Amino acid sequence: MAAHAENPKDATPITQAQNRAVLDALPFGDTQDFEDAQRGFLRTLPDVEIKNDRGRVVWSLKEYAFLGDEQAPPTVNPSLWRQARLNMSHGLFQVTASIYQIRGFDISNMTIIEGDRGLIVIDPLISTEVARAGLDLYIEHRGSRPVTAVIYTHSHVDHFGGVRGVVDEADVKAGAVEIIAPAGFMEEIVAENVLAGTPMVRRAQFQFGATLPKGPRGQVDAGLGKVTSRGTVTLIPPTRIVTAPIETHHIDGVEIVFQLAPETEAPAEMHMFYPALRALNLAENATHNLHNTYPIRGAQVRDANAWARYLNEALARFGPDTDVVFAQHHWPVWDNHRVLDFLTKQRDLYKYLHDQTVRLMNQGWKAAEIAERLTLPKSLSETWHVRGYYGTLSHNSKAVYQRYLGWYDANPANLNPLPPVERGRKYVEYMGGAHAAIARALGDFERGEYRFVAEAMSHVVFADPSNVQARRLGADALEQLGYAAESATWRNAYLLGAFELRQGQPNTVARAPVSPDVLRAMSVEQIFDLLGVRLNGEKAEGRRIVINWIVQDLGRSFALNLENCALTYLADRRSEPADATVTLARATLDRLILRDLPFADAMQSGSVRVDGDPAKLVELLDLLDEFTLMFEVVEPKHPA
Ligand SMILES: [Zn+2]
Repeated sequence: MAAHAENPKDATPITQAQNRAVLDALPFGDTQDFEDAQRGFLRTLPDVEIKNDRGRVVWSLKEYAFLGDEQAPPTVNPSLWRQARLNMSHGLFQVTASIYQIRGFDISNMTIIEGDRGLIVIDPLISTEVARAGLDLYIEHRGSRPVTAVIYTHSHVDHFGGVRGVVDEADVKAGAVEIIAPAGFMEEIVAENVLAGTPMVRRAQFQFGATLPKGPRGQVDAGLGKVTSRGTVTLIPPTRIVTAPIETHHIDGVEIVFQLAPETEAPAEMHMFYPALRALNLAENATHNLHNTYPIRGAQVRDANAWARYLNEALARFGPDTDVVFAQHHWPVWDNHRVLDFLTKQRDLYKYLHDQTVRLMNQGWKAAEIAERLTLPKSLSETWHVRGYYGTLSHNSKAVYQRYLGWYDANPANLNPLPPVERGRKYVEYMGGAHAAIARALGDFERGEYRFVAEAMSHVVFADPSNVQARRLGADALEQLGYAAESATWRNAYLLGAFELRQGQPNTVARAPVSPDVLRAMSVEQIFDLLGVRLNGEKAEGRRIVINWIVQDLGRSFALNLENCALTYLADRRSEPADATVTLARATLDRLILRDLPFADAMQSGSVRVDGDPAKLVELLDLLDEFTLMFEVVEPKHPA
């Protein structure tokens, strides 16, 4: 019985053998992590399925029931299967005396510390619905107490987005709730994720596999947790910023030593030590996997050397007095000797990655070659928490290379290659036509040469996206790579690639990359930066527009200038002469940018006043592009 060509297939004998070999190579008899992931369990929801107020499911573990089997199916790398099962533990857990965690309600953890008057909430997940459900679960068990402080460990959305689910901004404004974040927190949210937000959200589908069907032939995990929640993303700006390398504060009666760790897993990040509790919180810098110096969703690369350095400082300064170490993902590690061993290995993991990549770079190896030959030392490779479920040694070493030397490998043949479609056509021509290329690729597929088959078929697809045979064979190759991948993010990328080659792009509802709260938190300068990247340079050819913006309630003015197809601004200036002067309130500016308020309506109602020539303003707005989320990835981009 032939499977439908567009459905996921079984693992080939070659993939099955590869996956079986993993069982012998890794210490599956060591089940300490399963014990730790359940230690301190208090309660959970009968069915972990959380909905928003319109009844839409924003988080569900029900669809992961297939992970109940201890044994990995042939279509999943057994090491990844193990991690996927560990990431299924969910509910409220007691970490130590007065420290609790909500796990398995999102990709990240929410930590709750009981203070003198109420609760300190650390990292309220991605969305309000899951954060609220987590806090409710805590309250059911421990009784109702007010939230007195929120701490954001770093500038990624899975660590702040649910904040309005746990606190009311009015209480923050009234001074009843303090919100604490590391230096650079607000700036980095925007710098890292807003300007390039659209491609990051689209590419994140490949990293997390959120749109893939769940199952043994689909998404099983994201490495760092199951997947990302899909509820309401919010942000309340911090009221206190940690700025010194080490700062000690008493928050609601709890002594907290903050250690800044910038340029590590996030550009703005910090660790925390709780001396009275002998507990260490390493934010996202020491988790139960090799993390990313470059996430494949796309981001500026991170500094593996700084990462190791801050872990080393944490180990030296806090390690001797720590009985439990935990992070804002995964599960804690208890007992001082195990804490020290964990931290030492995590530190050395990032240091090894950095130093060995740079050493090989200095010997003249190229990024692709370094990625191919770099393996973990034996003393690390059989340790579960350093394995590449999220990052991989391969793509992380390329990121280290990129940080120092950039994308170019110095071979001038690669300096200005043809773009994908033209290159695909020439490759196909040189290979003797699509038919000959596919015939050869079929032979290679039988031999398990999946990496090259995927690449060769990608050339055929870019030369001719309607070549169904090439699409299917390319999909088959990607799928086997996915089935064998230990990294959840690689698996997700391969399987979504296969899915889109077979079925075309899924009809995903686009979520705006900028949440209204994040936009409100942006400076006016950052908003003009955002407008700059929306300017269509081709359409702007030959235009010259000068507009003064007066943001009345902030008492600030901005001179916005379009010439040479570039939009620039000067803050706290006005241009004389100008085509027009726009006067409005900051909130109105936000609504215009969010398209919550059409410009014409704003002018009519008087919330925007335009002096001068309003037509020039309309002309400028017409030059701004709208970005659509679902662009082609595994095939040529359709003309707009
Ligand atoms: Zn995170």
